[in-house]
Amino acid sequence: MPPPCDHTRRALIAAIASGPLVLYAHETTKTLTPELVITLTGQALIAHDLCAVGYPGFDQVVAEIRRGDIAMTDLETAIVTPASGAATREGVFLHAAGVPELACVKQMGFGALALANNHAFDFGREGVLATLDEVRKQGLAAAGTGKNLAEAARAAHFEANGQRIALVAMATGKIREGGAAEDALPGVNELRLTSLGEPDAADLDRILQSIRLASTRSDYVVAYLHNHDWREDKSVTQEWTRRFAKSTVNAGASAFFAHGAPLMHGVELYRGAPLFYGLGSLIFHSRTAPGFYRHEVWQSAIVHLSYHDRKIVRIELIPVALNEIGDDPGQQDQTRGRPRIAGGREAQAILERLQQISAPFGTKFKIHDGHATILL
Ligand SMILES: [Zn+2]
Repeated sequence: MPPPCDHTRRALIAAIASGPLVLYAHETTKTLTPELVITLTGQALIAHDLCAVGYPGFDQVVAEIRRGDIAMTDLETAIVTPASGAATREGVFLHAAGVPELACVKQMGFGALALANNHAFDFGREGVLATLDEVRKQGLAAAGTGKNLAEAARAAHFEANGQRIALVAMATGKIREGGAAEDALPGVNELRLTSLGEPDAADLDRILQSIRLASTRSDYVVAYLHNHDWREDKSVTQEWTRRFAKSTVNAGASAFFAHGAPLMHGVELYRGAPLFYGLGSLIFHSRTAPGFYRHEVWQSAIVHLSYHDRKIVRIELIPVALNEIGDDPGQQDQTRGRPRIAGGREAQAILERLQQISAPFGTKFKIHDGHATILL
């Protein structure tokens, strides 16, 4: 075969060079930066649009949340729309927010929400669906509630940094009559406890099945539990919770996190997966009177989980402090429970408490410069 003319040859070389080169560059990029950062925070009990008002310190919190490729939390309120039902409770524990507050959660950097909790039902089964609708309209992934039990139990699937992530969410405790999803009724994916205080076998089976299925379709699965089973001391993690968290890892979860008790619980590592038994609150627009909750309730952390080729390579914790007394005492409820990145002695105190309550689980911390890493 005669050699191609110079022009054709150059074009051919260019084509060959650009073809494999592009592919190679793509593969190289994938190999060199396969890191994925999953960011987890305390629950979002939001009732006022922080994004509209702003406050000193808010931007730093948002920047921290946005450091992750994907950030997740629990939405600890119903989003009320004309499609919601009537309120199913009254007083300070009725949690209601509007679409602007939900949009703010998205604007803060969250991409996926757990909706399984004891407030999902605050505006009835219609309210469960109305919230889910609005969350989806915002383009947020959502898990833990649905139009029936199958949907509530199903994983939410989404992508971040080119990788496939799933979230499976459930709730235990304080799910009122009518709040749990059933075969043909909307509600929460409930993990019930038996009279002996152990997970109900059918609920456990459904949840672990969902995680197993999700792990076949994703690179990472995050399991979430909204846990209102606490005994005399709210800060003590029950043994069943530890066993349950580990069973989610055995089923394929890469990480487990929880809220419910309104303060941070310890952290445990199990088979390379971090288990956060309680991350407290990121936003806490509680209408309770000052002094109702102990000091630790106003502490939290933003957690960055860095993965590389599906393995955890770094766990970083940024301490967060919330104000119990409103920035404007004349508008106490509207201006309290706001997160700020903690600094100085406050940061040290938050991280040392977390270190101390995690020590019985064999978890070791390195605290430096106002943040902490967990030794892997
Ligand atoms: Zn709750």
